[in-house]
Amino acid sequence: MRQQFVAGNWKMHGSLASNAALLAEVLAGVGTARCEVAICVPYPYLSQVQQLLQTSQVALGAQDCSVHQSGAHTGEVSVSMLQDFGCRYVIVGHSERRADHHESDVLVAAKAERALEAGMTPIVCVGETLAERESGLTRAVVLRQLLAVTHLLREQTSRIVVAYEPVWAIGTGRTATPEQAQEVHAVLREHLRTVSEAAAGVRILYGGSVKPDNAAVLFSQADIDGGLIGGASLKAADFLAIAAAT
Ligand code: PEP
Repeated sequence: MRQQFVAGNWKMHGSLASNAALLAEVLAGVGTARCEVAICVPYPYLSQVQQLLQTSQVALGAQDCSVHQSGAHTGEVSVSMLQDFGCRYVIVGHSERRADHHESDVLVAAKAERALEAGMTPIVCVGETLAERESGLTRAVVLRQLLAVTHLLREQTSRIVVAYEPVWAIGTGRTATPEQAQEVHAVLREHLRTVSEAAAGVRILYGGSVKPDNAAVLFSQADIDGGLIGGASLKAADFLAIAAAT
């Protein structure tokens, strides 16, 4: 049985004041959520958010990590630093990082491995661009991205989360239909089944313009185990409504 999971990705948004206000509202309403809830925040706010979440059921996550453990890597943040702030989750391979920083499948897999070594759960993002979808490459692209972490899935199955995020649906207001999303999730699930029985139990989140009015139907699909939520995680009422839709 896979417990549904809703993770917020604040991206590069926030301030000390707005974070405190947003989390006060989220924490006031999250008690009734049946799903697991996490929030992935920008690095400078990890300490603030760790303190605000201290006595709550909401887990803390980061939006990326370095592939290096330490050393001369200016601007990088290691998994041990994330651990110092109580991060349970770290997003790796978000399409914005793949596009803006040319992150390869191999690098993303290495980051996921660092996270696992540190006892954290990587949320491994996969997803096709619009051009790839229109060329009929969706299946090939998401399987290529998933294959890069298959050796980790074989060894550390239960601590990996996969997020299917079609690039054309992220921040665009254009959501995959429940059928389009389920079709890809089924492809991913099928691959996980070939890895191991335990891997078949890995949670696969959908991400891409999830809103309160489309969350329930997306989450009701057989292979969708919750969502990775960008824009809507910045509005407490929307984020809570999405968590309540699991
Ligand atoms: C994301 O950033 O992972 C995301 C899914 O964004 P949005 O919900 O805004 O499309």
